[in-house]
Amino acid sequence: MEYISTRGQVAPIGFIDAILMGLANDGGLLVPKYIPQLSADTLQSWSKLSYSELALEIFSLYVNNEIPRDELKKLVDDSYATFRDEAVTPVKRLTEGTYVLELFHGPTFAFKDIALQFLGNLYGYVSRKTNSIIHILGATSGDTGASAIEGVRGKEGIRICILHPHGKVSQVQELQMTTVNDANVLNLSVEGTFDDCQRIIKELFADVEFKHRYHLRAINSINIARILAQTVYYFYAYFQLPQEAQAAKVNFSVPTGNFGDIFAGYLAQKMGLPINKLILATNENNILERFVKEGVYQPGEFRGTYSPSMDIQVASNFERYLFYLYGEDAAAVTAIMAQFKAEGRVVIPADKLAAVQADFAAYGVQNEECLDTISDYHAQVGYLLDPHTACGVAAADKLASAGEVTVALSTAHPAKFDESIRLRGIAQTYPEQIQALFEKPQFQKVVGGSNEAIKDELVTFF
Ligand SMILES: *Cc1c(COP(=O)(O)O)cnc(C)c1O
Repeated sequence: MEYISTRGQVAPIGFIDAILMGLANDGGLLVPKYIPQLSADTLQSWSKLSYSELALEIFSLYVNNEIPRDELKKLVDDSYATFRDEAVTPVKRLTEGTYVLELFHGPTFAFKDIALQFLGNLYGYVSRKTNSIIHILGATSGDTGASAIEGVRGKEGIRICILHPHGKVSQVQELQMTTVNDANVLNLSVEGTFDDCQRIIKELFADVEFKHRYHLRAINSINIARILAQTVYYFYAYFQLPQEAQAAKVNFSVPTGNFGDIFAGYLAQKMGLPINKLILATNENNILERFVKEGVYQPGEFRGTYSPSMDIQVASNFERYLFYLYGEDAAAVTAIMAQFKAEGRVVIPADKLAAVQADFAAYGVQNEECLDTISDYHAQVGYLLDPHTACGVAAADKLASAGEVTVALSTAHPAKFDESIRLRGIAQTYPEQIQALFEKPQFQKVVGGSNEAIKDELVTFF
């Protein structure tokens, strides 16, 4: 498989080069040159596979022989052996017609582990094959940093530095990052906001001399390996549904921020998985809800919510979807993105909006409604939803029609967002792995929010 850019100005490259490039050199996003099409027989033959076996089949389609199959198998097996549940991503029945797909059984209790455990092992593989050190630099508002650190901690040939805004991530998120005591991990707690952290990262990546001296690599969700890893659980969840549920129209409801997770569902559908509707759940930062309902893509005012990992105004993966909406026409995507940059807004024509609405439905969940959903399901079903998952479940309740089956993606364990859940008087017992974090020493350095201050730290660390 080769990879091309949504803006058409990158010569086709292989899988490993695509992973290393991250953001495409022309400013676009990398996508596979074609989407593999699965026959009904193939789907049938996959339906009894374990999670890792299924992941190997799907990755094989996108990696081709660039990584020999036995080595790819080892990377996949190692990535999912760290999950606490034997099924890796189990499906639980919530109510008649509604299921939750639990994606939080990895090391940091959030769904990002599914992609970042694999990406960490891939970077380890590339480092061994090329005999070079991989330097990873990233910024986080919470979940990504912890997941990325867990994905590479202790791995030879990799060094990772993660910036987080000082005092502005949840307590559990901070502990998950900063209690890691491996020599290849550096946590910088930056005096500033998440936006400051992201700006510094962007500018350091744009500093060509600095970037090349250290071969800086990214871990953010525009990396195509993350999308591919996330397509696996759509297939796996579908196969886990009881026969009579599979016979109905099956929707997936996805708590959405950067559009990475739901784009993986779109890709699974394009490959041939019979998904009825992809339900796009947002919180009060609802730019994508407005896009699906009205065809207008325009950032609004930032709102802090109970689901902070979805507090995003400009969805970094959205361009990938535009590429397919416009029939893989890179010139059209380039024009739209230029217009967006110039005017801060894009409006799509009626025929395109009809195409969007054939695949997606959307619902934006208000803050109180999110907490209501948590308390209702806790009281009536005895299941504790985290605030992100609650957005997905609330959207499913709103939008699924009678007789349909909806799988709501559960993107985090409720223990990660106890501060919000406690607002409704619900007490929870932390899993022992999270409880243990409170006893551990923390390793982080508080630094000022200037590029020079960060550079000084990196030069010493790398
Ligand atoms: C990252 C994240 C999301 C949003 O996923 P995207 O791929 O950015 O749309 C939702 N929930 C949780 C808990 C997350 O960490």
